[in-house]
Amino acid sequence: MGKLSNILCASLALTFLTPELSYGQKPARKLFGHKPLPAALKPAAHGFYTKGCLAGAVAIPVDGPNWQSMRLSRNRRWGHPKLISMIEQLSYKAKEDGWNGLLVGDISQPRGGPMLTGHRSHQMGLDADLWLTQMPNKRMTYQERENTSAISVLKKGSIYVDQSRWTRAHTMLLYHAASFPEIERVLVNPGIKKQLCDNVKGNRKWLHKIRPTWGHHYHFHLRMACPSGSPNCKKQNATPRKTGCNDGSLDWWFNVKLAPKKKPAKPKKKKPRRELTVSDLPRACTFVLSANAPSLEAATHKSIAAAFVAPEIKLPKFSAARVLQGKAIEASGTPVSSLNAAANYILNGNVPVPTPRPGVR
Ligand SMILES: [Zn+2]
Repeated sequence: MGKLSNILCASLALTFLTPELSYGQKPARKLFGHKPLPAALKPAAHGFYTKGCLAGAVAIPVDGPNWQSMRLSRNRRWGHPKLISMIEQLSYKAKEDGWNGLLVGDISQPRGGPMLTGHRSHQMGLDADLWLTQMPNKRMTYQERENTSAISVLKKGSIYVDQSRWTRAHTMLLYHAASFPEIERVLVNPGIKKQLCDNVKGNRKWLHKIRPTWGHHYHFHLRMACPSGSPNCKKQNATPRKTGCNDGSLDWWFNVKLAPKKKPAKPKKKKPRRELTVSDLPRACTFVLSANAPSLEAATHKSIAAAFVAPEIKLPKFSAARVLQGKAIEASGTPVSSLNAAANYILNGNVPVPTPRPGVR
C-alpha cells in the first residue's frame, strides 16, 4: 500500500510540476486552438513569430468608434496589450486621413501558439491582419462579419494595383501603420510596395518597413517588434535601412517570382511540414497553456473611447469546430462595400473624440 501510494504521489507531483509531460507530443495547434480565453499572467510574448505563445493577452473589443472586428467565430481578436492599443490608435489616425475605419482580421488566439487553420506566424500576439477594405457605414451583424469579403486592391489577373481602387487613404493608412516606432514590419503584396515606391513623395523613410511578400492584397499585416517585458521573445532580423525601392529587391519579385512562367512548372511535391508540438515551443508556453483564465470582460481591452456604444453582438460559445469550417477573408461571400447601400447605422461623422486623444508621434 505504502509503495503504491508513493508511486501515485510521485506521478501526481510530476504532472503538477511539469505540465509539459501531460501535453506530451500532442500537436500544439490543437491545445492552443481549443483555449477560449487567455492566460491570466503578466503580458509577455514567448518564442518567435512562427513558434511561440502569448501570456496575458487582451482582446480588441468587437466594435470601436473606428473599427469592427471580423470573423468573430475564429476568436483571434487577441494580442499583446501594446499591439491592441496601437491598432486602436491607428484607427483614429487613419480616420483623420479619410479611411472610414478598420476591419480587423486575425490577430492571435487567446494564448497565441500555432493556429487551428491558416497562418504560420501570429503566434505571439505581435502580428495583426487588417483588411485593405474600409469599414462600411453600417455596424455589421455577426453573420455579415463571417460572410462578407474584403476586396483585392490588385487589378484582376494582374500583379499591379488597380488605380481605380487605390486612394490616398490607403497610402496614409500604411504610412501611419509604419510610423509607430514599435512596428517593425508592414507586410504587403509586391504590387502595393511598387505603388508606394512609385507615388510617395517627400518623406520616404518609412518605406523601408513596407515589406513585399506573397498574398496580402486583401489585407496587410502589421508586425510589432518584441515588446519590453518579454525577455523570451526572439527578435527578427532588422529591416534594411533603405527604402527597398531601387536596390533590385522589388524588381526580383516582378522579374523572377511573379513573372509568367514559360513552361508551367511541374507541381513540386511538398514535404508536409512536421507539426509543432508543445515541446517545440519555449518552456514558458506550457505554463501559458495551463494558467487560469480571466473572464472575457476582464480580458477585453479598455478602449480610450469609453463612451462609444455599438449595437451589441451576442457571441456564441467558442467552438473549435466552427473555426475549422470558417471562411478565409479572400473573395468569399459578397464584398463588404455592398453593405453601404443597406446601411442602417450611419456614423455620419459623429464619432466621439476620445479624451485624452491618442498621442500623435
Ligand atoms: Zn497575417
